Amino acid sequence: MAADLERLDAREVLAWAYRELGRVAIVASFQAESIVLTDPAAEVVERPEVITLDTGRLPEATHRLMNEVRRRWPVRLTVVSPHHGDVEAMVAEHGPNLFRDSVDLRHLCCDMRKTRPLDRALAGYPGWITGLRRQQSHERAAVPVAGPDPARPGVLKLAPLAAWSREQVWRHIEDRRLPVHELYGAGYTSIGCEPCTRATADGEDERAGRWWWEQGAVKECGLHWTAASLVQGARA
Ligand code: SF4
Repeated sequence: MAADLERLDAREVLAWAYRELGRVAIVASFQAESIVLTDPAAEVVERPEVITLDTGRLPEATHRLMNEVRRRWPVRLTVVSPHHGDVEAMVAEHGPNLFRDSVDLRHLCCDMRKTRPLDRALAGYPGWITGLRRQQSHERAAVPVAGPDPARPGVLKLAPLAAWSREQVWRHIEDRRLPVHELYGAGYTSIGCEPCTRATADGEDERAGRWWWEQGAVKECGLHWTAASLVQGARA
């Protein structure tokens, strides 16, 4: 099945997912890929489910784009927040900007604000859809269009844009006149939490602006750990 899905285009993969899995959600960060997926999803099904993680540290522009998406497409948007007790305890122990102090504390913050909320949000879903692309970083170079989620046994993780280049994404955005996150206009090539993302320079990897102060650490927040990362205990 996974090999067959590799041969389908993104819209066909979405159609397969809605038909075969029944309940499936796009997990959106409101980067360009989220928009490129939401657009055909709203043509394939009446009210596509979109889940997003409001970490409490997002740029205001992300909320503006969320609103625009709600106005443009008939999505069922679920905005998931971290458990307040988890965040309060973490900040009491380590301070609000713990992610600057060590990679382990950065992983802890991502775990509290992103991974655990996503675990809660995806309970009961047989599969989810992400905008991962192989070209985004060397850690993502082998992302399959469909495969088991290493972090969630029995759940299928779909990346319909896995083989897309950055140029394809932007050509599609322009052709379809889709809305995009304002920070792309300020030189960002990947957008996450406000304190952990900066613009990139020409020639840098797309994800070089994420946790830019870290040396040699994997530029992932825990939502997309590979099986190898999990084995190495990268996810607390
Ligand atoms: Fe925390 Fe930064 Fe991860 Fe956001 S990206 S959850 S602020 S460490």
